[in-house]
Amino acid sequence: MYIGRFAPSPTGPLHFGSLVAAVASYLEARIHQGRWLVRMEDVDKPREMPGAAANILNTLSEFGFEWDGEVVYQSQRESDYQRAFEILKSNALVYACSCSRKEIADSANHGIEGLVYPGTCRNKHHQTAERLAWRVKVNADLIEFDDAIQGHQLQQLSQDIGDFVLKRSDGFFAYQLAVVVDDALQKVTHIVRGADLLASTPRQIYLQRLLGYTQPQYAHLPLVTNQNGEKLSKQTLAAPIEIHDAKAQLWFALDFLNQQPPLSLKTSSLSTLWQWALENWRLGNINPHNAMATAYK
Ligand code: GLU
Repeated sequence: MYIGRFAPSPTGPLHFGSLVAAVASYLEARIHQGRWLVRMEDVDKPREMPGAAANILNTLSEFGFEWDGEVVYQSQRESDYQRAFEILKSNALVYACSCSRKEIADSANHGIEGLVYPGTCRNKHHQTAERLAWRVKVNADLIEFDDAIQGHQLQQLSQDIGDFVLKRSDGFFAYQLAVVVDDALQKVTHIVRGADLLASTPRQIYLQRLLGYTQPQYAHLPLVTNQNGEKLSKQTLAAPIEIHDAKAQLWFALDFLNQQPPLSLKTSSLSTLWQWALENWRLGNINPHNAMATAYK
């Protein structure tokens, strides 16, 4: 059984980039007669915008998305993350880290995504872990996977990333752990999401292996950028998608995903548009490269 999901972070309303991820993950699940789950990734409470989760769900439903089962909230699943964390801890795979950002910046090399943590605290055996972050030990194994859109991927965590944080010094679990635990517990088989998470995938595969979880299949969508080539996000002040404009926005999302929707669909009903999309959706049509959306030209 195909189980897909859409996992927005309620840091703001949905923008066109998140709509593209919702559309692609939804259509892939539906054409495989699969389930499509919605998970609210509100594990990072300090970054949450009040009201955003309800706003996102309302937008999704007004756009005609139909999700299966109850929406899951990461903020209510701490005990699941704690259980996974304890397994890693009992296998001596995690350690407490007292390094400040400045200490790391002074001693680390640059990797694929920022600084590669040099392992300073690995052998310090901090006694009290109050207010300390917890990192997982990585190794030099090559982690490889085939992405359905971006092709073959390869990373060596020790060189490219370094030991990474699973639990933050403020006590919150990190996205990397939460997402792996949730995808496993929800039995997600296929992950379709933005290419901004492509570089995170080897960390997630590594955690799946440590925890004995099944590895899902991955498809990373091209990113929607603005005129400056920046990913649409709250930081780059992406405009929220508007419910009254649902048909046009969906049409643009299909167009961005290179599905070649006929122009006549722009003015048809929402249900005709969805019907066309379900009949014509091809993951293989997607161009892997990041691009500016027509709507933003
Ligand atoms: N919550 C993440 C985001 O909104 C997506 C996580 C995922 O799809 O794995 O960027």
